[in-house]
Amino acid sequence: MAAEFLSSPTAGPCPDAESTTLALPRLLAGQAQAEAAAAHLAPRLFAQAADTDVMDAFPTQDHELILPKLFHLTYSQPLFSTYPVRSNTFIASLGSTLVVAPHPDDEALGCGELLALLRQVGQPVATALASDGTMSHPASQLFPPSARRAVREAEFRHALTILGVENTEPLLLGLPDSQVPATISDASFTEAVAQLRAFLDDQQPATVLVPWRRDPHPDHRATSYWLQAALAAMPHPPRRLEYVVWAWERVTPADLPNVADKVSGFRLDVRAVAAQKQQAIAAHHSQVAPGIFTDDEDGFLLSEKMLEHITGPYEVFFAALAP
Ligand SMILES: [Zn+2]
Repeated sequence: MAAEFLSSPTAGPCPDAESTTLALPRLLAGQAQAEAAAAHLAPRLFAQAADTDVMDAFPTQDHELILPKLFHLTYSQPLFSTYPVRSNTFIASLGSTLVVAPHPDDEALGCGELLALLRQVGQPVATALASDGTMSHPASQLFPPSARRAVREAEFRHALTILGVENTEPLLLGLPDSQVPATISDASFTEAVAQLRAFLDDQQPATVLVPWRRDPHPDHRATSYWLQAALAAMPHPPRRLEYVVWAWERVTPADLPNVADKVSGFRLDVRAVAAQKQQAIAAHHSQVAPGIFTDDEDGFLLSEKMLEHITGPYEVFFAALAP
């Protein structure tokens, strides 16, 4: 872990050991105090953790609680905020676009504003949904899996309508939520690649939007894998832009782009269509409080903090570097 922090080009200056060490117990005092302290101390703590064994003074479980938060505060969002902002002229240049969403809601969370802006400039947008979305509330008895799938696919369609995307029938792959196939040895991986390839051939998009290849959710990564497999066999594959969903909220050093990825990050100023994005997210009623599948008390709902991150003034994308 320390070596990764040391190699980060964004690591801040190393503070004196005494002040950092004295501050650490404050991080363990409670969640609110930890967050406030982390925001202030994160750069110093990471530099310190890279150089010394100061974190060894605390149980491993505390590291696991604190370090991701520190990393998030120190590197991911500040890193995104350094990316250049591309103009809306760039948006028009994307041409017809296909968005591939691992789950119903990723299309709104990750790139809802870009979709709305594409529609504003008259570009056609097609959609493909990988999973059936049934595992956000797996214990619901009132809504068995078939009902949950129906609700979530209806929410997907509604959100797309709000974003102005209503002119093409989405490709609904219905892959098992939380088990989207990630390897070519899985028969459903090959089938998903074939279905997506056929859809690509039919739609002929100039651009494909897909989750960032290491967005920290297994289904998001799997979706990236089989999209890449579908594109690899195309003689003239569309441009690929990768959008960010969970990397806003939780990310490790290894999840962020590195030199070998050969991508560059950029931002789009999406404030003009912020209301549309918020309405599209809200259309996923089952995923925002108070939810729909309420008999599963341990089910997933988007947190206020996640929504705060995801509805900022910019959407973040990665694109291949020019050859
Ligand atoms: Zn997702």
